[in-house]
Parts: sequence; C-alpha cells; structure tokens
Amino acid sequence: MSDYLYKRVLLKLSGEALMGNNGYGIDPSVTERLAIQVKRLHDDGVEVGVVVGGGNIFRGLAGAAGGMDRAQADYMGMLATVMNALALQDAFERVECPCRVMSAIQMNEVAEPYIRRRAMRHLEKGDVVIFAAGSGNPYFTTDTAAALRACEIGADCLIKATKVDGIYDKDPVKNEDAVKFDKITYHEVLVRGLQVMDSTAAALCQDNCMPIMVLNIEGENNIQRALAGESVGTIVFQ
Ligand code: UDP
Repeated sequence: MSDYLYKRVLLKLSGEALMGNNGYGIDPSVTERLAIQVKRLHDDGVEVGVVVGGGNIFRGLAGAAGGMDRAQADYMGMLATVMNALALQDAFERVECPCRVMSAIQMNEVAEPYIRRRAMRHLEKGDVVIFAAGSGNPYFTTDTAAALRACEIGADCLIKATKVDGIYDKDPVKNEDAVKFDKITYHEVLVRGLQVMDSTAAALCQDNCMPIMVLNIEGENNIQRALAGESVGTIVFQ
C-alpha cells in the first residue's frame, strides 16, 4: 500500500457529480472518470466505501415543494440513489474494480441488502462497496447516510467530493473575496452555518470524531493526493 494517511475511507458522491455538464441524469464519461479514481485507490490498498446521492434524478424536498407527501417523495429520492449506485457499479466493473452494491431498502434482484458485518467483510476482502438507498429512512439525506455508514464501517475519514475545491467563509461563486479554509473545526462549521453538509451529518461526524475531507472531484488525482497528505481541499476535524 502506498503511504496514505487513511486505510479505510467513505467517499460521498453527490448525484449532481454524476451528471457532468448536463442538467439531469448520468453522464457515462463522468462515471468512468470516477471509476478510474476509485480503482487507483483500490489498487493502492485503500478500502473504499461509497455513498451516492440522487439529486441528479429526484430529491424528496423538491417533490414535497410540488405538493407531494414528504416521506413518499423521499422514498423516490432513495430509489434515485439506487439507479446511480447501479450506474457506478457498472462503471467500476468496466475498469475491473471489484464492487458490490448494498441497498438500505431491500431489492434482492438488483442489490445485496445492507448488512453491516457483511459490508465490512467485503471491504476487508478488497471489494469496493457502494451503499445505495441512503439510510433507508425518509427525512434524511445521503450526507447523513454517508456520515452514518462511515461511522458504522469504522472508516478513518469521510471524503465529500464536490464541485468546489473546499470550504470557504462565503459562497466563492458569488463572492470574489471568499477565503478557503485548509482546516476548520466541526464547531466552527456549525456555528458559522457553513454549507459543508447538512447539520445532522455534520453533528454525527462531530459526535463520533469522524474527520471530513471536502475536495473537488474534478481535479486530477485529488482523492489520492489528499489521502497522501497533500493540502487538497479542506479538512474538518474535532
Ligand atoms: N433520501 C432519504 N433518506 C436518506 C437519503 C436520501 O429520504 O437517508 C432521499 C431524499 O429525498 C433526498 C434524496 O433521497 O433528497 C436524494 O439524496 P440527496 O438529496 O442527499 O442527494 P445528493 O444531494 O447528494 O445528490
């Protein structure tokens, strides 16, 4: 194994990260690029769990805003994450990265059920595990599911791969003078109301001392560089 800071990581990919420059859905060139990045980590001996969002297809809050029952809409959101998980599994397997999909909502024909001990076993054997269907509960997000799975599987850190290159004191798209943090505490994230993850996810990480790395997924080898200790993105710590 190369000299990485962490042996087991949980990678959170938003649904939007899969749609590339399109306004909706899944861009196969993006899933291929992601697969190549994950394969490199895998080949270097890092155990990788992945939680994928569903915002590129459906979000419960958007459904509820349109008048739907919130829980019903959230279940649709969770199903969207399953579609993304299957697309990722396909991409991973095409680059010969062994990979399992485990779903928090049982659908045995398409994915294994999520069983914590079995997930840990897959990771130990060297399979990448994609956790689908979020936490399996409405009123949560896949950020919270990522924090939960990271804690459950004993990950050394949670990597939140986004379209920005870290955490800023204000929105860098709207403010030219926004300043990026290299490191920041959970407390400051929560007090300043910084948009890293939703507050449930951030609090869960804080309570369980789970470091969060926020980095830009589009940068070449960013995950590998961050895990090797280079200053890529922002680290949130206790
Ligand atoms: N969701 C849920 N429970 C969970 C995880 C996700 O109900 O534990 C639903 C929720 O409706 C959410 C949707 O699935 O809007 C897609 O997840 P998310 O919005 O977190 O995806 P992302 O923003 O990461 O693409």
